[in-house]
Amino acid sequence: MMRPWRIGVVGSGPAGFYTAYKVLKNIKNCQLELMEAMPVPYGLVRFGVAPDHPEVKAVQNKFDVVAQDPRFQFIGNVRLGDTVSVDDLRARFDILVLAYGASKDRTLGIPGESTLNGIVSARDFVGWYNGQPAFKHLKPDLTRGKDAIVIGQGNVALDVARVLLSPVDALAKTDMTQYAIDTLRASKVRHVSLIGRRGPLQAAFSIKELREMLNLPGVTLKYDRDLLVREMNEHSAVLAKDRPKKRLLELLLNYKPPVEPTSRSWSLDFLASPVEFIASKLTPTQVDAVKLSVNTLQHDLLTRRTSAMSTKVHKTMDAPLILRSIGYKSVSVPGLPFDEIKGVVPNTQGRVLQSDHIDEQKIVPGLYVAGWLKRGPTGVIATTMYDAFQTADCIIADISTQDPPENSIVADREEFMKLLTARGQRPVTFQDWKRVEAEEKRRGALLGKPQEKLTSVQDILAVIDELNEKS
Ligand code: FAD
Ligand code: NAP
Repeated sequence: MMRPWRIGVVGSGPAGFYTAYKVLKNIKNCQLELMEAMPVPYGLVRFGVAPDHPEVKAVQNKFDVVAQDPRFQFIGNVRLGDTVSVDDLRARFDILVLAYGASKDRTLGIPGESTLNGIVSARDFVGWYNGQPAFKHLKPDLTRGKDAIVIGQGNVALDVARVLLSPVDALAKTDMTQYAIDTLRASKVRHVSLIGRRGPLQAAFSIKELREMLNLPGVTLKYDRDLLVREMNEHSAVLAKDRPKKRLLELLLNYKPPVEPTSRSWSLDFLASPVEFIASKLTPTQVDAVKLSVNTLQHDLLTRRTSAMSTKVHKTMDAPLILRSIGYKSVSVPGLPFDEIKGVVPNTQGRVLQSDHIDEQKIVPGLYVAGWLKRGPTGVIATTMYDAFQTADCIIADISTQDPPENSIVADREEFMKLLTARGQRPVTFQDWKRVEAEEKRRGALLGKPQEKLTSVQDILAVIDELNEKS
């Protein structure tokens, strides 16, 4: 009997699960291990997607169907680059797919950013309200003043602003962590400014997320309408060819503020780049304001890119809470090719390349990449799905006409689990996770919400051990 193809996938976010789904569908004779650094699956679906978007989180149900395939095994609490190396995995799997996402965020690199309190990464803030163990102790201080600034105008910036301005009673009915709900209940934040370095045409958020913000009860939007009209008129030919962008800008243009005065507001502040964070005079360790360079736009006809150019004029904006939301960043793992400039594993359609130098492009046999690690940290779950399918198609094309090479890979599932245990690691299975999930739902029901997440790795492992003992 021919041995099965041994396929390892690192990362259990949408990229990992969708790759697994398509590979399992098309390669019958295989065993697939989905390895994950956290003791729980789903990546940003659990730790990124906003709690008030349950319809998005429902994609987990599709992933659960994949996990029911007997050829599939989830192994949580295993970190590539820590518990296991690339060499360990290459020696045990015929095919290795890297889908470990983007686990850092971009920084501005300006004075005060890394030294002052009150400057919070949006990634950490999102992880905090979503119960990501690394951020449970973040404790953002929302009580220092009524103003907050978010730097960046992408969908993450809008998520963060919406959470800060939403009625807390509505959030309390979601799976947002209870400690975040309690903190938001005590929040004094009443106005959130979203700062974009470029103009309204370049705003990175999408229409559904903008509409949600415009529909927030008791919240007003402020923005420079003259600038929007000017930009729309000047670029009407471009907008005629870009329907989604045109619809988004029209939504903004047709916005009517509530008739009654509101206690909360947000603003879109275009054409401004942070150049320095300013310390409070009273508490010099605390941020009080950001100095911004006022920008103008420069359109490059050749590249069609619109860049922000500083006018050398500056202004300051006061706020004791500043969230940096300028994008995520993937990190390299020893033993893997990595393009530091693009922040991706160099690849062609998902097949990993030895080097990103155009004249030396050589495919590394058996090594693949999917998701944000493959194309950079942009795109919604649907984009990630198509991207993962492309990677899976490459794998299928590369192996479906062959048999697994004889004897080159001797290890099997059991041997791999033994290796992990020998390294002092406690691998978490999908069955373990389902028990954790049931416990989270039980705790959620007591609080009148769908789920109350366990927020420390220790607690998750303790619950698994306890429930396993009982069963
Ligand atoms: P991830 O989802 O990040 O998955 C990567 C996985 O790899 C994680 O589970 C991580 O723990 C694991 N990992 C990391 N390092 C290692 C390692 N060394 N070893 C083992 N495992 C590792 N899209 C939508 O369609 N709708 C939304 O509402 C939406 N909201 C979002 C909100 C936020 C805050 C963010 C940041 C993104 C949102 N997106 C949304 C986009 C969507 O989440 C991404 O398109 C998608 O998650 C990318 O999938 P991925 O698998 O590449 O990465
Ligand atoms: P993003 O969409 O890339 O937005 C990043 C923002 O930061 C942009 O406004 C960008 O402006 C700005 N920025 C980058 N570098 C900057 C700098 N040095 N100084 C000032 N501003 C800077 O990233 P994101 O918001 O992190 O979202 C990541 C992906 O997840 C996106 O594809 C997003 O659509 C998706 N997502 C989706 C949802 C949803 O569907 N509900 C929710 C959250 C996230 P420039 O354009 O000028 O660079």
